[in-house]
Amino acid sequence: MMSKTHIAVGVAAALAAAPASTEGLSYALMGGAAGSLICDIDRSSERPSRDVKQGWAIAFTVFFAGFMHKSYAYWQTFKAENLLENPLRLVYLGLLIVLFLIAINGAHRGFSHSLLMFAASSVLIFLINRQTSLFYAIGFLTHLIIDLLNKKPVRIFYPAKGVCLGWFYADGIANRVLLLSGCAACAALFVIKFQVYGNILQVIR
Ligand SMILES: [Zn+2]
Repeated sequence: MMSKTHIAVGVAAALAAAPASTEGLSYALMGGAAGSLICDIDRSSERPSRDVKQGWAIAFTVFFAGFMHKSYAYWQTFKAENLLENPLRLVYLGLLIVLFLIAINGAHRGFSHSLLMFAASSVLIFLINRQTSLFYAIGFLTHLIIDLLNKKPVRIFYPAKGVCLGWFYADGIANRVLLLSGCAACAALFVIKFQVYGNILQVIR
């Protein structure tokens, strides 16, 4: 499916799983946006298409919307004294970058779309910043599930051969239905969860 669809569905799933707090929503936006599109990092090595460029622009926007919301808490993770206190975090960050570099150079729907990449990147993100990791994993899984519906095989069990259900074309009617449902779910969840959060605040006050 197209990048926008992956982001809409992935972020909606992350928002659904997020606790109804500003913090939960921030981490859901960051993790959901990153996880839902990171698999397609393998489309960036060739000349990126319009869909790829639009996708990354939207993913970064959503990521930073979450980041701005809770930037103070997030930066605590990467503060020099915290990194020195736990220098292993730098090692995990380095390993994550190496993993992404391997993924970027692979064939489309190869290693970057595998359970191996899912497990390795989710564990590393958990070790770097555990609040974001659950939502990253959810976003990643929605991407794999959506791609499996397509006609092009996905090497989910890498290095084994690719599999797919072959039901839909990536840019056909299913893509549009999923995109619209994902956007509607995101909007509804925002209203519902913020409403819940507002109510909790009222009760406390
Ligand atoms: Zn994909």
